[in-house]
Amino acid sequence: DLEEITWLQKLRQGLGKTRRGLVNQLKAVVGRGPLGADAVEDIESLLLQADVGVAATDKIIQALQTKIRQDALPADQAIDYLKQILRDVLEEPFQNGYDPNFAPQKQRLNIWLMTGVNGVGKTTTIGKIAHVASTSGYPCLVAAADTFRAAAVEQVKIWAARSGVEVIANPGKNTDPAAVVFDGISAAQSRHCELLLIDTAGRLQNKQNLMEELKKIRRIVDKKAPDAHIESLLVLDATLGQNGLRQAQVFAEAAQLTGVVITKLDGTAKGGVALAVVQELGLPIRFIGAGEGIKDLRPFSSYEFVEALLS
Ligand code: GDP
Repeated sequence: DLEEITWLQKLRQGLGKTRRGLVNQLKAVVGRGPLGADAVEDIESLLLQADVGVAATDKIIQALQTKIRQDALPADQAIDYLKQILRDVLEEPFQNGYDPNFAPQKQRLNIWLMTGVNGVGKTTTIGKIAHVASTSGYPCLVAAADTFRAAAVEQVKIWAARSGVEVIANPGKNTDPAAVVFDGISAAQSRHCELLLIDTAGRLQNKQNLMEELKKIRRIVDKKAPDAHIESLLVLDATLGQNGLRQAQVFAEAAQLTGVVITKLDGTAKGGVALAVVQELGLPIRFIGAGEGIKDLRPFSSYEFVEALLS
């Protein structure tokens, strides 16, 4: 439908900087004829330039070399084959037990813990998910456990209000985030909500405290909502490229992550980082953001992403 087409165009446009670097040069490489060793080397450096990262690039290049050894790769099939390899990298978590169909489960409480460093777009993402969930018929609540940032609480309230979603917050400078989480779960349980989104702090300056806080929140969730389906989603800013990946590793230790959201894919030349994230963390991407509007966050599709990147 029209909305899908508009989104694809938007994603394609957003990835324009990454794509222009990658696609035009790939086409030049491929245009030289059947792929040989020098072409593969050029492709390798193009992938690294697009922030695909060393591990994912190695994997892609190995797959490419195997294919070339087995039955040569005619120039007119090279890009299609490359697309398939990229999709395979992005879908690998689904071979390892992650559900390819990502949505809150009906008739039960789903709790999504949202983590990430300040500024990556976490609050915006929560607002957008709350909007989509509630308009798709999931009774939804937000717990604003990033108690340190009054502005973040206000912002998430504004987003949530637009879609009639209530925010559980506990204003006051020294509020314990754990108390907000506790109240949020109680409210979600008594109102038979199907999705509780928990906003958490993202002050990386005090890494140790932050990690302790996240672990504590997780303990409360596990204890107070043992029957809930829990997802722990890390929000990453695509414009940070490989630096975002280093942040991710810190969170992966504390937050028992189950998935990733990548924001700001509009206007970055580092869109290839999506592949690095999946390869390095072994986690599926669940949503991507390509703009600041309420419709600019969408469920992730490896097919769409690869088409937007390489077509
Ligand atoms: P938080 O500190 O992680 O909660 O980040 P915010 O949600 O406050 O977002 C920080 C800034 O990034 C805001 O100006 C958002 O509008 C902007 N932002 C969030 N997601 C996107 C996106 O997908 N694309 C663009 N261009 N900007 C975004």
